[in-house]
Amino acid sequence: MKAHNIMEDIVEEYLKEIISADNKVCNCELCHDKMFAEILSNIPAKYVTSETGAMYAVIEQVRVEQSSVILKELVKAMKNLKPHPKA
Ligand SMILES: [Zn+2]
Repeated sequence: MKAHNIMEDIVEEYLKEIISADNKVCNCELCHDKMFAEILSNIPAKYVTSETGAMYAVIEQVRVEQSSVILKELVKAMKNLKPHPKA
């Protein structure tokens, strides 16, 4: 039984939203991955097992509880992104 960090799901959702909503944010895979890794490194992980039948309820609860922390890290990660020439 493996544990899964649900913060990954929540951060991924926030990232997708911000990348599609803000065209100043680079939408390439490299920048996405950099922001993803940086945000996850800076917030506490929240592990659940796939046994958890109520996983979606847990995700919803954590999303609400942690939203200000995640958004703060998201903004920081966006600021830290170095502009790079398009490949
Ligand atoms: Zn990029």
